[in-house]
Amino acid sequence: MRSKRAGRCDDPSALPPGEGGTVTEGEKTSSSRRQFLRCAAFAAGGLCAAGLAAGGISRLGRATESVAGAIPAAPGPVSPLRMAKAKYWRPLANKRVQCLLCPKRCEVGDRERGFCGVRENREGVYYTLVYGSAAAARPDPIEKKPLFHFLPGSFAFSIATAGCNMNCRDCQNWDLSQARPEQVRSQHLLPAEVAKLALESRCGTIAYTYNEPTVFYEYVYDTAAEGHKRGVRSVIISSGYINQEPLRALLPRLDAVKVDLKGFTEEFYRRYCSGSLKPVLETIKTVHGSGKWLELVVLIVPGLNDSETAVRSMCKWIRQTVGADVPLHFSRFYPNYQLRNLPPTPYATLRRCQDIAKGLGLHFVYLGNVPEAPSQNTVCPGCGKTLVERRGYTVTAMALRKGSCSGCGRRIPGVWD
Ligand code: SF4
Repeated sequence: MRSKRAGRCDDPSALPPGEGGTVTEGEKTSSSRRQFLRCAAFAAGGLCAAGLAAGGISRLGRATESVAGAIPAAPGPVSPLRMAKAKYWRPLANKRVQCLLCPKRCEVGDRERGFCGVRENREGVYYTLVYGSAAAARPDPIEKKPLFHFLPGSFAFSIATAGCNMNCRDCQNWDLSQARPEQVRSQHLLPAEVAKLALESRCGTIAYTYNEPTVFYEYVYDTAAEGHKRGVRSVIISSGYINQEPLRALLPRLDAVKVDLKGFTEEFYRRYCSGSLKPVLETIKTVHGSGKWLELVVLIVPGLNDSETAVRSMCKWIRQTVGADVPLHFSRFYPNYQLRNLPPTPYATLRRCQDIAKGLGLHFVYLGNVPEAPSQNTVCPGCGKTLVERRGYTVTAMALRKGSCSGCGRRIPGVWD
């Protein structure tokens, strides 16, 4: 049980991360650099959380309780080394602060945290508690993000922390996203070290992923700069639930953005994600307008966001707002987290979504989490030639010539080199 309700979020449906114990010093022990690089060499498989030898991510607490508003600080100490002054907040009276990073705009009292559970007010100053605190760090195929038109066949050094500014009832990574920093094992990896490890593990890209990068904004911001200094690119895998000012400040440091469009109604966002649709649509427009590479993913949940009307409206909006060339991935839902009562998305439903999208003129429509589907391949919209052939997360053939179709010469949008 929470001891008290603290702070206030603009979103009245806010569901905070779960309660749980704190980790002991022994449990906090970081994995060694050697362990880490060994993990990098065996990139296939599950998450490589820091402290992986001890069994990966700790599950000390699960988010099953819902309480509106911001949450009180956890009792255990957080290493000061992992704290940094937060960006985008303003002071209020009586040592309170308001976070301006995401649309929740939490108002947080002294010694309390915002909804995401990883930003804390101390004496009227707002801090991030996860700066340099990597709860997962490993190379992944870029196809796993998924980014299909961004350096296909390459690896992205993928890092995560605890926390999220939404609480999606179908979250696939809820162990991380709905945890506090004290509830996951993490490794202290400063931005320059992440960039160096990316290079050492032969990754040309750093991906901020698994949990929402918005909540570890400062870490992303500095790590992306360190990456660029070394020629390593940065991509965020995001829900897009971020305010415009921080987004615009971050974009020059990014090379690609994947946005999860959870559904296409405010009702869906409110009921199933503790968020809202409008800011996400603004994010998509801003990213597209910035010229950074953009891909969109929609997790199709049976009976919740798969109606023909919703899918059609979404595809129409995409076509009209960001154009036919932005890749759209329809991803299969598997029962998870708070929606274990629903069945996996039928393949026929995904095919129907794909048909709708293609019928409305979208050029690149993929199906995800469906290993048996041929729809992982990139096909030229001009002549129909298969340009990138994929099996699972592996690229098995490429027929692109300098970013153009080797059959008809049509330019294929993306970052290929
Ligand atoms: S980033 Fe966290 S603390 Fe800031 S407004 Fe969003 S949920 Fe609240």
